[in-house]
Amino acid sequence: MIDSAASLRPVPAPAPPTGFASGAPVRACIGLGANLGDPVAQLRAALAAIARLPSTCIVSVSSIYRSAPVGYLDQPDFYNAVVALDTRLAPQALLDALLAIEQEGGRTREFRNAPRLIDLDLLLYGDQVVDLPHLTVPHPRLADRAFVLLPLAEIAPGCTIPGLGSPAGLALAVAGQAIERLGALEAR
Ligand code: ADP
Ligand code: MG
Repeated sequence: MIDSAASLRPVPAPAPPTGFASGAPVRACIGLGANLGDPVAQLRAALAAIARLPSTCIVSVSSIYRSAPVGYLDQPDFYNAVVALDTRLAPQALLDALLAIEQEGGRTREFRNAPRLIDLDLLLYGDQVVDLPHLTVPHPRLADRAFVLLPLAEIAPGCTIPGLGSPAGLALAVAGQAIERLGALEAR
């Protein structure tokens, strides 16, 4: 027999699957970097992999920027770019997915600031501040790096980095870092 009271009871919305944020997509920014192998090809391959992430769509892609290494100087120049995306992946799930793309790209970690085939950093996740054991957002070294601030200012000039301000404002403090803007990462 049909329990009419039960059939009228409102059905609760299903919980989002683990790893997915509920609600509207969040605008996140990812920093891409490479200085071994064929850096531009690796940036393009990583961009293609990011574009395939579930519940994620790419909003804009910066130019490629070339800069001299910092920290450990005896290594090739770095090629960097920043990608803005809208995602329903939660911050930790998004970082895990980025680290998996790094692994597929052959990333190894020998020492701090070591040369790398591909590096993917979660720079911003909307206006959220995230402080988890293996994830800090905004990225803790974002404000020190012209190779992050200039591409970020290019594609998200109006964004505010929580607690820090605008990318263009922060870029003034790192204006002494040698950096060159190259062509588009993505065919437009
Ligand atoms: P870096 O990018 O500074 O050269 P790594 O790529 O070797 O350093 O990252 C080391 C660790 O930093 C990662 O395993 C990750 O858990 C942690 N981490 C913390 N916050 C972030 C973030 N916002 N983006 C990327 N990695 C992060
Ligand atoms: Mg990294």
